[in-house]
Amino acid sequence: MTDNEKISILQNLIQIPSVNDHEEKVADYIISLFEPYSDKVQIKKVPFATGRTNLVITMGNPSGKHLGFSGHMDVVDPGNLDHWEHDPFAGVVDEKADKLFGRGASDMKSGLAAAIIIMLEMLESGTSIEGQIKLLATVGEETGEYGAHVLTQQGYADDLDGLIITEPHMDGIITSCKGVIDYQVTSVGVPAHSSRPDEGVNAIDNLMQFYLAAQKLMSQHTEVNAKLGKMTHSIDIIEGGKQVNSVPDYAMLKGNIRSIPEYSNEQIFTDLQQVVDDLNASDPKMKLAIKFIYPEVPIVNGENSLTKLAQKVSGKYFDKILPVESSSGANDGSEFVQAKKDFPIILVGPGNGSSHGYDEYVDISQYLTSIAYLKDVASQFVGVLASV
Ligand SMILES: [Zn+2]
Repeated sequence: MTDNEKISILQNLIQIPSVNDHEEKVADYIISLFEPYSDKVQIKKVPFATGRTNLVITMGNPSGKHLGFSGHMDVVDPGNLDHWEHDPFAGVVDEKADKLFGRGASDMKSGLAAAIIIMLEMLESGTSIEGQIKLLATVGEETGEYGAHVLTQQGYADDLDGLIITEPHMDGIITSCKGVIDYQVTSVGVPAHSSRPDEGVNAIDNLMQFYLAAQKLMSQHTEVNAKLGKMTHSIDIIEGGKQVNSVPDYAMLKGNIRSIPEYSNEQIFTDLQQVVDDLNASDPKMKLAIKFIYPEVPIVNGENSLTKLAQKVSGKYFDKILPVESSSGANDGSEFVQAKKDFPIILVGPGNGSSHGYDEYVDISQYLTSIAYLKDVASQFVGVLASV
């Protein structure tokens, strides 16, 4: 495939504004690219909701090693369009600057395009592979990894021997990621005139008791993971009260935890629920409730063949062997890691720090190099029998 064709596939993907929705349009476009090879691939749409479908495309032999490529098809909102120099959904190319602009140029339609192109090039050249390559294109990664959740639940990752998530990161190979737990606590009180607060129940006062107890409890999680560091906890949103002369009857807070394997997510759920239960039991006027929103487990890979291979091959394409790194951000890997079989997951793909920002971009040369690099890794991992 020519470089121009590779660039135009990325432009076409960016031109489908799949902002936290409409991933089916992206899936349909990808399917159209594989149509000429319909006798050599299995294509499966795995729906999540109306207009939102995951896509699984498999090529190669069921015997041999199975490598997954995963990328999400959703993008985040472009925000205030006045701040964009280039239309976020045009896929503008500035050849002089070696940049392609657009929402998703970095996170992660370039990574998604890379995986698609690798498979298309193998099909185009008639490359016969020993194992299998499977594209797992997901919905809703940016808002809770629920596409990857559906695919994992339905067993689409159970046969994998390795998974490459082509999220934007080209300085190293990420093999460990912290887990994420978002939680919300609500407090219900009784309204009253603020001149007679004793006649009401102040929802903010009660919520603050949870705040203090949770901060104290979470600060006791001091163990340090060798790869990921410490668990973190941050209460980031508090709302409550309507006006200054009324006792508030409702208050709410939201907290964010970045977890490490030393403290299981289940243990944290139990501990925080216990704080709520104890406070409710301590005072009949206390009405607190907690819920957890899209929790994600941490990923930690030990030494494995996929990471070693990805490192070894990197020396050929970049000016250094890519180092092994860790991240405190969540990604679809937190869902895929819950598949029935253990397999290494690595995160490496084209893109940069412009993700989610105005005038998001990818360096075109980096995009093209990443395709060649990842294709080499994939070929060596699954084994190539012959090219026609
Ligand atoms: Zn992403």
